[in-house]
Amino acid sequence: MSLAPRLVCVGEVLVEMVAEEIGQSAAEPGHWIGPYPSGAPAILADQAALCGADVSMIGCVGADPFGDACLARLEGDGVDVGRIARDRELPTGVAFVRYHEDGSRSFIFHVADSASGQVDAAGLAGALEGADCLHLMGSSAFSDRSVGAMLTLARDASARGVRISFDPNIRPEMLTREAHLQGLREILGRASYVLASEGELPALLGDGSDTDWARVLLGRGAEIVVIKRGEKGCTLLQRGGSEEDVPGTPVAEVDPTGAGDCFGGTFLAAVLQGVPPVQAARYANVAGALSVTERGPMSGNRRLDEIIDRLAQG
Ligand code: ATP
Ligand code: MG
Repeated sequence: MSLAPRLVCVGEVLVEMVAEEIGQSAAEPGHWIGPYPSGAPAILADQAALCGADVSMIGCVGADPFGDACLARLEGDGVDVGRIARDRELPTGVAFVRYHEDGSRSFIFHVADSASGQVDAAGLAGALEGADCLHLMGSSAFSDRSVGAMLTLARDASARGVRISFDPNIRPEMLTREAHLQGLREILGRASYVLASEGELPALLGDGSDTDWARVLLGRGAEIVVIKRGEKGCTLLQRGGSEEDVPGTPVAEVDPTGAGDCFGGTFLAAVLQGVPPVQAARYANVAGALSVTERGPMSGNRRLDEIIDRLAQG
């Protein structure tokens, strides 16, 4: 039996196509590079497995080469893919991402009606058996079905005393329904670990600063809230009042997609293995930094020993 902490991740497993040029149009022919195995929960799952967690991914892909690519990558890095179904009729989902001059991104998602969108509440019985933590992400809230599956798992986790980790990971292109936002607020309220980017807590909860909302969540039962701040690193707030800015690692950014998920997978794997949260945040900052130095959402995923070596180099 494995002594590694057992982490269950759920959500979209898909491939990503990345625009080659900054400022590239999606309305005219251009060069797109991919397919890269992706999906925010899948990136996090992959990174957590590389960092020593016993990770099980719940999702669905098509019976096509894109699905093969996703499964091969996850399985190769040690993720248990036994709960990733293969839809025989629908193709694997695709996300197209392109970057603007100001560093922001736009997505076109072909997910909700693809195989990647077919995770539903039926068939999830037993998924949390033996789990230490369930990780959920706002980017998975793209349909009534997916939100239903997330809420079913979140309520089951709460009932079993399995900790929930939640990254709001808001994708405005997908998150257009008030009922879905409401579902995410429920999950946020159940979470022990909240891993949010700057601006996401106010976007979900209303006026106020990230840290104000983090303190509210800690007062309501969360154990740890992290605010991810891109190249600046992160702020770690813990139950009991400790608050610390943990500085980022300077790198040359090539592709920011996946940084938050790499951060999250590293942070969770470390904390669940008993690493003190501030040290876990240092590891996670390095993991996030390394992830942006390569094109492709999982291309910069790294094992924990490499991350620790890099941190030691300063
Ligand atoms: P995404 O949703 O694109 O995966 P995010 O918005 O959730 O990302 P970010 O704050 O962009 O999260 O990045 C997560 C972490 O990765 C940061 O807290 C930081 O540690 C690291 N990071 C991100 N970008 C950079 C960068 N340019 N240089 C150094 N570290 C970075
Ligand atoms: Mg994010």
